[in-house]
Amino acid sequence: MAETVQGLVVRSTAGFVDVLIDGDILQARMRGRLKNAPRTTDLCVIGDRVLVSRPDRRSYVVVEVLPRRSRFSRRQPGRGPNKEDVLIANLDQLLVTFCYGRPLLNIRLLDRFLVIAEHQHVQPVIIMNKDDLLETSDTSWRTAYESIGYPILTLSAGTGKGMEALTDTLAGKISAFVGPSGVGKTSLISRILPGLDLHVASVSEHHGKGRHTTRVASLYALPGDGFLADTPGIRELGTWELPIEHLDECFPDLAVYRGNCAFRSCSHTHEPQCAVIDAVHDGAIDRKRYESYVRLRDEANI
Ligand code: GDP
Ligand code: ZN
Repeated sequence: MAETVQGLVVRSTAGFVDVLIDGDILQARMRGRLKNAPRTTDLCVIGDRVLVSRPDRRSYVVVEVLPRRSRFSRRQPGRGPNKEDVLIANLDQLLVTFCYGRPLLNIRLLDRFLVIAEHQHVQPVIIMNKDDLLETSDTSWRTAYESIGYPILTLSAGTGKGMEALTDTLAGKISAFVGPSGVGKTSLISRILPGLDLHVASVSEHHGKGRHTTRVASLYALPGDGFLADTPGIRELGTWELPIEHLDECFPDLAVYRGNCAFRSCSHTHEPQCAVIDAVHDGAIDRKRYESYVRLRDEANI
């Protein structure tokens, strides 16, 4: 067999991938045998490490997708119980972005993003943009999140303050921004990747399909080693279904008490001898976080 080299998938469209190998991006097709093999997960997505061979001088072929360290995936209701839709392989961190000023911080949405990150075993980092508006904003929510151990970066895409800390956080990792519109994600991305015009990124022309305005899942290489992942699916993260049976595990501050509840299947909403409810009464669990849990549970139950 021809010699293979390892690369990182930075773009993926039907049957073809763009692979970063030693600083060059090469287009490769998936080996037929890989495509036809039965599987319960997406064959190859951005963030995958792959082995590429060059059977002839003109073409590159992905011969193997290496095992994933982690995957950021969504279960597709119509695709059967064991079929998942992987958005990003090997994602290291989710940059959960909000801001001071407007739009006002929506704590429920913050908790929703944190739950999804926990459920997917991806490190969340809370990014608070618009540091220039901090003085006139409510910051009382912060203590609860700091004591859980969530990293919080306060910065400003407008003034540039705190951008070095963000650069350090991104170094050597695959990260993705999530957050509501208006918080400054585009402004932050253009600070980190000045050359990138996110709005013109299109399905690559070299597949002969012409120009499209739809954005294709891509990993963008950062100047300081590391990648930003952008996929259309991740922008709808705020509306993803939550894992109802595992919801308490996705609240680390509640999860430490759940083993002490009298009932193993305790929902921590109405049961007697519930250690979580006791901890809320004792002030050991932040009441707002507990309210989030109850609300998100109700929502997931609908
Ligand atoms: P996105 O919808 O999350 O991508 O947010 P945008 O990057 O489009 O920014 C939304 C608005 O916030 C724009 O009017 C930006 O100029 C503004 N903005 C971005 N960063 C800052 C900042 O650090 N301070 C202030 N005051 N405004 C900012
Ligand atoms: Zn309980």
